[in-house]
Amino acid sequence: SLPLSQADPEIATAVENELRRQHEGLEMIASENFVSEAVLEAAGTVFTNKYAEGYPGRRYYGGCEFTDVVENLARDRAKQLFGAEHANVQPHSGSQANAGAYMAVLNPGDTILGLDLAHGGHLTHGHKLNFSGKLYKVVSYGVRKDTEVIDYDELEATAEREKPKVIIGGGSAYPRIFDFARMREIADKVNALLIVDMAHFAGLVAGGAHPSPVPHAHIVTSTTHKTLRGPRSGLILSQQQFAAAIDKAVFPGQQGGPLVHIMAAKAVAFREALQPEFKQYAAQIVANARVLAETLQAEGFRVISGGTDTHLMLVDVFAKGMLGSEAEAALGDAGITVNKNAIPYDTNPPLKPSGIRIGTPALTTRGMKEQEMRIIGKWISEALSERTNPQALARIRGQVLELAEHFPLYGWLRHPVPV
Ligand code: PLP
Repeated sequence: SLPLSQADPEIATAVENELRRQHEGLEMIASENFVSEAVLEAAGTVFTNKYAEGYPGRRYYGGCEFTDVVENLARDRAKQLFGAEHANVQPHSGSQANAGAYMAVLNPGDTILGLDLAHGGHLTHGHKLNFSGKLYKVVSYGVRKDTEVIDYDELEATAEREKPKVIIGGGSAYPRIFDFARMREIADKVNALLIVDMAHFAGLVAGGAHPSPVPHAHIVTSTTHKTLRGPRSGLILSQQQFAAAIDKAVFPGQQGGPLVHIMAAKAVAFREALQPEFKQYAAQIVANARVLAETLQAEGFRVISGGTDTHLMLVDVFAKGMLGSEAEAALGDAGITVNKNAIPYDTNPPLKPSGIRIGTPALTTRGMKEQEMRIIGKWISEALSERTNPQALARIRGQVLELAEHFPLYGWLRHPVPV
């Protein structure tokens, strides 16, 4: 058996290039992070070879004794980490987790009430091309135009009028903390269930830097690869009363065999998140985001809702005379990766929106703190005002590289393995 570099040089080169890209740039996509070497190692183990349909102790395949060890550890650690009664660690992704959670408590045609996608909601909260929009009747709530913060009175009025079976909290581009208690109150009032999709802020919850939805929501879904810093995957937490329905909805409802190597990597990530250092990490993510938002505001940028309580911010670049797509491209040339994003009440189309979304989880993993955020905020501002000047962007890229070299991504990057 040959090493990858010999067995498949094209793929090996792509991996090597991606590693270099991740190391040399500033990764500021709010939904991305860098896993530890232990998580990376677990994800690359022989568990990728194993079929394990079913659940620990109740499998449809033989040879699952070590798989059961992995899945039990992952479930127990997830429950401990979030104080949940039940955990299902089999969803392959955040979308699969939502599909499983919805299937457990909804029938096709039932009504769901989620955050408007144009105001920061996720595709799986009811986009018309997504399974959620095709299977369920979708109504949405949004943010107020003046405050750009969720209008809970409007949410309540919509819930009373539409009588949804499920209210969904959480989103992909909302920089503030959701009022879980108020949402549960509204859900109870209209006899709906509350599902909170904490994909974006799960790591902040785990590290105590953000309120937990677990005491309020009937079901909590998540990805594991954003602030939580695990492998790309999904997770469902719930009260015991929904445990059997959720397990049945995930398998056999939505999936076949679980990705055992990824469950192993999730277990490792949960263990890391249970360590005291993870509290410091989560607090630092939020502190970094706050300083970055303040720096951008001082540079004259309008930050949606006036700031952030979390790991992400939305910046209105159209107010500074450019589209989000132009800003994304200019920052890319300067070595800073962000994504274009619609802002609430955007007057521009989704592929050419008015904003960019910026997040701090990945740079915080690399060890960057407030001081670096101030520098990076100035570079972002400079790159955007010099967006038509390739020399200026190249100069910033040089500075970015120098900073990146001070915060190596993986220890062994100092001694890269030659391809
Ligand atoms: N839920 C939210 C709030 C998300 O932001 C995302 C990912 O962006 C998902 C679910 C879906 O996760 P995945 O891409 O793993 O399917």
